[in-house]
Amino acid sequence: MNAANATVGELAAYVDESQRGVPPVIRRRPPRELAERLGLARWIREGGMTADDHAEFLRVYLAEGTRLHHPAYLGHQVAVPDFPAALADLVHGVSNNPMAIYEMGASAATVEFEVLRWMLATVGFGEAGGGVLTHGGSLANLTALLAARASVAPDAWTDGVPGDLALLVPASTHYSLTRAAAILGLGERAVMPLDVDGLGRIDVARLPETLERVRRAGRRPMALVANACATGTGLYDDLRGVGGFCAANGIWFHVDGAHGASALLSQGHRHLLDGIELADSLIWDAHKMLRTSSLAAAVLTRREGDLDAAFRQKASYLFYGEQGFDLIGRTVECSKAELGLKIFLNLAWRGERGLGEYVARRYATAHRLWELATRRPGFTCPYEPESNIVCFRYGTGDQAAVRERLMEDGSFQLTSTEIGGVRHLRAVVMAPATDDKTLEALLDRVAEPDGRVHGGTVPG
Ligand SMILES: *Cc1c(COP(=O)(O)O)cnc(C)c1O
Repeated sequence: MNAANATVGELAAYVDESQRGVPPVIRRRPPRELAERLGLARWIREGGMTADDHAEFLRVYLAEGTRLHHPAYLGHQVAVPDFPAALADLVHGVSNNPMAIYEMGASAATVEFEVLRWMLATVGFGEAGGGVLTHGGSLANLTALLAARASVAPDAWTDGVPGDLALLVPASTHYSLTRAAAILGLGERAVMPLDVDGLGRIDVARLPETLERVRRAGRRPMALVANACATGTGLYDDLRGVGGFCAANGIWFHVDGAHGASALLSQGHRHLLDGIELADSLIWDAHKMLRTSSLAAAVLTRREGDLDAAFRQKASYLFYGEQGFDLIGRTVECSKAELGLKIFLNLAWRGERGLGEYVARRYATAHRLWELATRRPGFTCPYEPESNIVCFRYGTGDQAAVRERLMEDGSFQLTSTEIGGVRHLRAVVMAPATDDKTLEALLDRVAEPDGRVHGGTVPG
């Protein structure tokens, strides 16, 4: 109990000082030095940690990590967890009900089932749809493509993969999809690029030509993938346009909504996902914009039987039965964490409306960053952001060096991405603590001359 109380106390202080932006957002101490500082070898060898040692260890451990609650955390699309989801992790950590089979966690399985029904209804798949939660979007994409493969080549599970399948993706697609093509046995060469505009969005008007090209190459589309939204730019593909084309041509339509499907909860943004109900399969990460810890991702299919077919040929639909139901037939994983509880508790505390407001505010803050940057001399922004991901350049020099400068002193965590072959800085607004003051400070800091020596100050 003492250790548990100490843990909660340390975590509360950590979140509080992070939110106030007191310490650096990131520290990059070399691993050898860090192992020493944390006393890792000694603890492993000798054991005997007490509640006080535990608190002391945790303090250093947290301080040396990356602070996602910090206003200057603008790096990756990883959720700033809300406390109900964090409590779910604690409950799972203690009760450990790996509920892929009902008898190993009736409550956990039922919670997942209801969370999936909520997601299916939100997407517009309704009662006919099927779903399962997996440990992350990459595994979710793999699972969805397995369902696509089962639909297009039902004998692949027993006989192996036909050599003529193709996966059609925009080049901006997440690497987990091209990787999935290789894992599924299609081979990387089966991944064929769709024509895109200058920002990497699918060019709907040119889809017929692409299909012609694929057919001339002697290939059959296994699936066509659209981004909602793209990892690099945060821009959404035209789901209605792409979905309509797929439906007309009998092509499996997969939507990668890992990051951006949560915009369905914001009245002001759900139009970005117009046409999502045309998808045959969709993935949706809760550990990005629904504020759960990593990992909790949903695979959703428009027809429930398609998901069951992913891992075997006969469909077995899930019902509330007398003996419960087993989700194990739908996942790569055997045992599985209580993923549904994290999403459920965030919903139960914040409501659909609260989560939608969270999304809307982050999207608005990113838009604000774009407004501020476009007004300042020296900054160029290649597009108006649609989500909480913003790309920009400062000057014409090495953008990676700018990022390195900010990360070096821990003032900001940023990422970078290439757009049309040109490297851009990339900010992802995740933390509720990020406000206008943060954004102005970021732009000031980016525009500061290298090493600050030009301003006459002595570099510290
Ligand atoms: C993050 C992301 C993924 C991968 O999800 P993980 O949960 O990190 O495995 C896939 N697709 C898109 C569009 C993403 O943004």
